[in-house]
Amino acid sequence: MSVWCVLLAAGQGSRSGLDGNKVFFRWRGRSVLSRCLDVLSDAEIYDGIVLVLSERDMSDYRALAEREGACPLVRRVVFGGASRRESGYNGLCALPEDVEIVSVHDAARPFVTPEIIRATVEDARRYGSGVISTPVVDTIKRIDPATRQVTTPDRAQLRAVQTPQSFNYARLMQAHERARREGLNVTDDAMVYEHAYGSVHLSDAPGAERNVKLTLPEDFRRLRAQKRPAMRIGTGYDAHRLAQGRRLVLCGVDVPHDRGLDGHSDADVAVHALMDALLGALGEGDIGRHFPDSDARYKGISSMLLLEQVMEIVRARGYRVLNADVTIVAQRPKLALYIVQMRENLAAVLGVDVECANVKATTTERMGFEGAQEGISAQAVALLEKTEEEA
Ligand code: MG
Repeated sequence: MSVWCVLLAAGQGSRSGLDGNKVFFRWRGRSVLSRCLDVLSDAEIYDGIVLVLSERDMSDYRALAEREGACPLVRRVVFGGASRRESGYNGLCALPEDVEIVSVHDAARPFVTPEIIRATVEDARRYGSGVISTPVVDTIKRIDPATRQVTTPDRAQLRAVQTPQSFNYARLMQAHERARREGLNVTDDAMVYEHAYGSVHLSDAPGAERNVKLTLPEDFRRLRAQKRPAMRIGTGYDAHRLAQGRRLVLCGVDVPHDRGLDGHSDADVAVHALMDALLGALGEGDIGRHFPDSDARYKGISSMLLLEQVMEIVRARGYRVLNADVTIVAQRPKLALYIVQMRENLAAVLGVDVECANVKATTTERMGFEGAQEGISAQAVALLEKTEEEA
């Protein structure tokens, strides 16, 4: 006799405000569906899982299994029906004959725990059914749709019901057959079971109050806000060739010299390294992706203007700069006279105090391309901190 789970993921999820099926929503690099399957596996109680999906989500599911790893417990995938009851029934019909206990779980509840699962399965063995539930915290009103009369049921007598819901398989199947014959409209399997047998057994387990169903846009916004790291760090490196007839611009300062740096923009190598550090911290690739050389708009442009655009991305992603540190590697010219102005330029655009925008210069004691004065390189590091809201 085996124990199986029917995992329901065929819902429309139209209240979520997301583009696709909410079970594919990725949080900290792993989808809601994979997180659910992880917990079902961790419970170490199931012989198999039947996944109920809608047909149009099959290709997304295959892509997900490829990317996040297929759960070996998923033995069958079946398509959902026109209603919650029919989807559940399709899943039950796909179970093997020797099933003793079946759990039905909603894939939009990824915060379920092995303890909750085991509690419902144990109760199903003992009482025929085990439905996880929690005390109600809100005061509930009942409204009579005809008279608009409002009454208040005693909160101590109310329970909020979730999934997993576990049942004796034969009994649940019989209840479903009856519900189908009668065209019963239900919101969960507990109602199907109650309709046939008069009641269900309500299970208790620690953590049930956190076993929430991801439903509304707000639920996903909260997850997104959680997933953003509080701090992010990035590094940048760039090098440009020295050429005749070019200005030498470093951190927005025109530095007098017999040659300047060659490049598509003003070739401000220090600001390029800094922009890459900022974009790197955000996981936004590099400046080549945001300001391609092939784009005529950026020809000869001041890199300080590009830095302003990068800072717009930083703010739009809900971050601010804590500090930045830039190292310019050049044999000549001497840069000491210009460092203060460079720091002030950067601080103004980064939105930090001057003490948090450091610039330093070094030589390489005549070694390498910087030492031979073929070019100048720069390195940068930037630290970002999360602000309140994603714009
Ligand atoms: Mg560059």
